[in-house]
Amino acid sequence: MASKIFVKAGNVQIGGGAQVSIQSMLNTPAHDIEGSVRQAKALEAAGCEIIRAAVPDKDAVKLVSALKENVNIPVVADIHFDYKIALECVSAGVDKIRINPGNIGDDSRVKAVADACRNNNIPIRIGVNSGSLEKSILQKYGHPTAEALCDSALYHASLLEKFDFTDIVLSMKSSTVKTTVDAYRLARSRCDYPLHLGVTEAGTEYSGIIKSAAGIGALLLDGVGDTIRISLTADPVREVVAAKELLKAVGLRTGGVKFVSCPTCGRTKIDLISLANEIQEKLSNVNKDITVAVMGCAVNGPGEAKEADLGVAGGDGCGLIFRKGEILYKVPESEIVTALLSEIEKL
Ligand code: SF4
Repeated sequence: MASKIFVKAGNVQIGGGAQVSIQSMLNTPAHDIEGSVRQAKALEAAGCEIIRAAVPDKDAVKLVSALKENVNIPVVADIHFDYKIALECVSAGVDKIRINPGNIGDDSRVKAVADACRNNNIPIRIGVNSGSLEKSILQKYGHPTAEALCDSALYHASLLEKFDFTDIVLSMKSSTVKTTVDAYRLARSRCDYPLHLGVTEAGTEYSGIIKSAAGIGALLLDGVGDTIRISLTADPVREVVAAKELLKAVGLRTGGVKFVSCPTCGRTKIDLISLANEIQEKLSNVNKDITVAVMGCAVNGPGEAKEADLGVAGGDGCGLIFRKGEILYKVPESEIVTALLSEIEKL
């Protein structure tokens, strides 16, 4: 079940029953401040709610300050190995840190990071991946199993707990969907930390969305998970668009247009595929809580029409515009988009 305890990254609550938040990560070079800020703004405009940036060296800490000045969503610094960079990011006003305490050296360094984060109310995400498990854990399990991922995440958490630091979020991502799902389910049964869900190295846009929807979707439908990132080898704005669709699909977000279209068949007499794509694209920025149906023929059009606030059913080179089960009028194929959009505007 969703975590009962929560942390706060800036003004975004993670866990404790808060809305499942959408994250993404910049893929611009860390030292390209201007390009990174531009991408961060695009992500924020697309609906990203928490933004993460890699901070590979001390010079890159400047990026944290630049992002804080230019976007209104919480900024997470992704740090590997160097605890001093973590301390500098805290001083630069970062809202959350992703670091694995087992990778930064002795207890004094872990304590320094834990103390700095506690004093500034900054949570830490421990992010375990199947490719970076501790040797001892790998030896025990033979390969990166769900148990291995979960053990590793809880091991890193125990290093922070030693210093009474518990503002922790856990992630345990595998590139295998089933291992990812099993690892998170196990973690949910073994601890109550908020969980950041994701399938790692999920692939390019098409396969990555399918893997993420299967893995993250399965967990969210079980009530597991507090924040998500869909990882794609693509423009990160696509990650945010996909995450929003996934949250809508599992019923965790409402608002915006629910778009319905048929798969087409031998009865279709208009170019429905182009039409559906064009209409869906034009509706992506419409915030009305409505259902729009784009159907290839009048056979199923009336059935969908009862559910849809507005829709079109294709005829022979024409379209029947309907509203709540009632056919309004017929338009030539070339005028379908304009007619439908003008009816949507009236709602
Ligand atoms: Fe075929 Fe009509 Fe059903 Fe579309 S709505 S799949 S065109 S029968």
